[in-house]
Amino acid sequence: MISQTRMIVQESLDALLEDSAFLPELDGDARKQAFTSLGAILSTPNHLHKSFLRIALENGSVVRIPAFRVQHNNALGPYKGGIRFHESVNEDEVINLASLMTLKNALHDVPYGGGKGGIVLDPRSYSEKELHLICKKYVQYFSDILGPDKDIPAPDMGSGEREMDWMMAEYKSIRPGQAYKGSFTGKSVINGGSLGRREATGKGVYFTFRYLLHDFLQNQRKFLSNTDNAFAKTALEYDGSPMTIAVQGFGNVGSVAALEAYQCQHMQNKVVAVSDRNVTLHNPDGLDIPALIKFVALNNGDLPTGENQLLDANIKATIMDRNDLLYMDVDVMILAALEDQIHDTNKEKIKARIIVEGANAPVTSEADEYLSDKGVIIIPDILANAGGVIVSYLEWMQGRETQFYSEDQVYKLLLDKMKNTMDTILPAFFGDPHPLRQNCYIHSVMKLSTVLYRQGKLY
Ligand code: NAD
Repeated sequence: MISQTRMIVQESLDALLEDSAFLPELDGDARKQAFTSLGAILSTPNHLHKSFLRIALENGSVVRIPAFRVQHNNALGPYKGGIRFHESVNEDEVINLASLMTLKNALHDVPYGGGKGGIVLDPRSYSEKELHLICKKYVQYFSDILGPDKDIPAPDMGSGEREMDWMMAEYKSIRPGQAYKGSFTGKSVINGGSLGRREATGKGVYFTFRYLLHDFLQNQRKFLSNTDNAFAKTALEYDGSPMTIAVQGFGNVGSVAALEAYQCQHMQNKVVAVSDRNVTLHNPDGLDIPALIKFVALNNGDLPTGENQLLDANIKATIMDRNDLLYMDVDVMILAALEDQIHDTNKEKIKARIIVEGANAPVTSEADEYLSDKGVIIIPDILANAGGVIVSYLEWMQGRETQFYSEDQVYKLLLDKMKNTMDTILPAFFGDPHPLRQNCYIHSVMKLSTVLYRQGKLY
């Protein structure tokens, strides 16, 4: 996975090196030197911090839990990125996720750099008291490198507003009298969080799909019809009839994206399948997404796994294996669970013509290339799942100004920002043969390169 991001960044740099219109003031050896520096800066993190959190468990035993904070690049602003709580967290993964944050913030013009954190644990195996202690210890161990103008964590998989509230409170106790509201985002609203933050990523994920297949397509149908671009042909396959949608992952991102698709006033969708860590639920006539969200809220985050549960909740669905969702004959697949879900050995079984990356890096580079060659449109992570960091930025600003926006204002600012990015990227995407991911990376790398050059960092 780590090599995928590096590879596309390097390809973007190679293309820009040859483009004499980009940074024309750099030529000859100075140009080569600058691009060598850029490759080195963007392919490695500025800092990698690792600690072992010592936790006394309620049963009397003591564990040392590995924890990371990676600060990839801060050319555009303070480091920013979530803290993942998951048993599979590892150094390479956190580095890659931090570099994706650098690219994502550059793409959407969010004034932050890229960072990421991780704690190697299954949060379900710890009591609330133990998790509280783990969160406090994380802040104690990393407090010197965190802060509202240095590095601002947020939730990621396995963490949420409860953990951010605990962490912000610990930060405040360690640094009395200093500004603390902007030290963590994704907090509860009563603790200075933003309305709409919890829904932001899922809403943004669905928006990117809707904008491409509805708003942009409607306005640009003529332009798309006149190109021989394979992706334009895929978009034009959509004729307004209902789209079938499958959503992998039914947590924060997946459940909100599924609800957006279910409630969409612009397009007619049928969400025919959803999955989680245990099962896939399938109904070709469309699933009752609000009922599933209600069920999950009452059942520790899990979808129904048995006929009795479906019956009790009055949900009509067939229960299937969790991975069956990936191979369904649907128009659209939203991937909102984990990385590396579509890879070299299952890529040929994928039938969806449009894939939206709600999760980070759910499609490997081999699968990406294979599917893109077949004209499948993949809306990449750095474009699709930026809603969380955009509203984190709004939360950070609101905390500084102590002025708070209504939910409608937050959603308007969020979608306007994502629309601006889509309007910048889509015409170039449909005008050249490269996949959307490549177009997004080029845009981010151009911005980062220009800023680093102007900051005098490329000697
Ligand atoms: P979450 O913990 O709330 O939900 C994860 C969901 O995935 C759960 O329903 C879980 O059961 C399911 N899942 C786990 N393993 C699975 C498997 N093998 N197959 C199918 N489903 C599986 O996490 P989230 O916050 O919704 O994040 C999901 C993804 O989106 C992560 O990759 C995260 O990094 C990314 N992301 C999240 C945000 C955010 O704001 N929450 C922002 C950007 C990116």
